[in-house]
Amino acid sequence: MNLPHTLGELRKSSFSEPRLRARKVKDELRDNLIAKLRSGETIFPGIIGYDDTVVPQLVNAVLSRHNFILLGLRGQAKSRILRALTALLDPQMPYLAGCEIHDNPYAPICKRCRALVAEQGDNAAIAYLTAQDRYVEKLATPDVTIGDLIGDIDPIKAARGGHDLSSELTVHYGLLPRANRGIFAINELPDLAGKIQVGLFNIMQEGDVQIKGYPLRLPLDVALVFTANPEDYTARGKIVTPLKDRIGSEIRTHYPATVEEGISITGQEAWTRRDGLELHVPKYVNEVVERIAFLAREDKKIDKRSGVSQRLPISVLENVISNAERRALRNEERTIVPRIGDIYAALPSITGKLELEYEGEMRGADTVARELIRMAVAKTYDGYFKDLNMQQIVQWFELGGEIKLADTAGSQEILEGIKSIQGLTEKLSPLGIKQKDQPEALVSAAEFVLEGLHAHRRIGRTEERVFAAEKQQPKRQERPFERGDDEPPLRNRRPYN
Ligand SMILES: [Zn+2]
Repeated sequence: MNLPHTLGELRKSSFSEPRLRARKVKDELRDNLIAKLRSGETIFPGIIGYDDTVVPQLVNAVLSRHNFILLGLRGQAKSRILRALTALLDPQMPYLAGCEIHDNPYAPICKRCRALVAEQGDNAAIAYLTAQDRYVEKLATPDVTIGDLIGDIDPIKAARGGHDLSSELTVHYGLLPRANRGIFAINELPDLAGKIQVGLFNIMQEGDVQIKGYPLRLPLDVALVFTANPEDYTARGKIVTPLKDRIGSEIRTHYPATVEEGISITGQEAWTRRDGLELHVPKYVNEVVERIAFLAREDKKIDKRSGVSQRLPISVLENVISNAERRALRNEERTIVPRIGDIYAALPSITGKLELEYEGEMRGADTVARELIRMAVAKTYDGYFKDLNMQQIVQWFELGGEIKLADTAGSQEILEGIKSIQGLTEKLSPLGIKQKDQPEALVSAAEFVLEGLHAHRRIGRTEERVFAAEKQQPKRQERPFERGDDEPPLRNRRPYN
């Protein structure tokens, strides 16, 4: 693109003075949003499940030229939404070259630029920022200072330049002035000290700020956006009232409403494209992985206030695929097909993402995670096999049959064993699997059926992944899996490796 390089050229271009002089960032966001609304283009591509809830409120906030806050638990795409706002900025924004706060060429606010324009006039050099350059993000922590956020007096600069200390030429600008004419996002706003919130408010409201007692006039043009955990935000005294008053819209985010939506998000975010081998993730594996998060969000052993991030199913899926990839490589298989056993092997990607309540702590993260997987398997199994009679398979085990399905064992190696279980391979049609399908897919599907029966306690399974009859339990009818089931484990539930 041929962009004007001096103020004089700029005046004659589409970046003309009448258009840009008084145009604030929030006007620019609004203009570009209106253009997108008119054209019917997707406003926030890649943000799934918010079309009827978050997106309309976000659109209204931008149309209203509000500063706004997203209230939600972790892993609800809050940061992602804020970053997506850059799509509403112009692709190129002219500013006076060399200005630390990217001054508007027609209305500079810093002393240096005002002097520069007075001296050089239309020869003043122009530089450009892309939309991405104009997004500044800061995670609030209690130790953030006015210096970090707004600026500091630089005594060395002052001494070198022979300036008076209160002169703005001695100011070392903080993050907010550097975000001038852009979007400034503060994550976890309630973690910002009260004093800093007041400073932020003064800049927003009056364009004035005091640094180390020196008043500084800084009429910045910034779209301020924030995120917070809802409980922290509404807790008394966490946010100073005048700042709260200046936040035009509070928008609540949420976790995916349906398992299908969750699967779409996880599929979009997880790193699944492994070079080398062909990958096929069965639908039921995606469902189990997603349901782990859904069940964890409802589980009383897990802390509700911090939530269960969408990053949980994303990391689990990546880890599940890796375990299957490792098996495929070791056994020289051509296709990677994850199994339920790979989900149990992905425990390291689950435990760290659960904030446990006291009861959960007592049981241990491993046990809680294993129970979640088991419940997720049971629910998913019911979706495919609820009305199917599996007695023939259960009977095979009751007559003394046993089979070991190690997560490292190749498909060819276990296929014969699977086929010897009468009735098993014929039952796989709800999964879309036929007897002639490739061994990797067949074994995965058969193992899912056995894991499902195990999740319903109809057959047993040892820590070495040997499936056998459920011995210590009197025979009974299959019953729906009950959540919060506190029955003692039937078998040794020590973790297997
Ligand atoms: Zn300047």
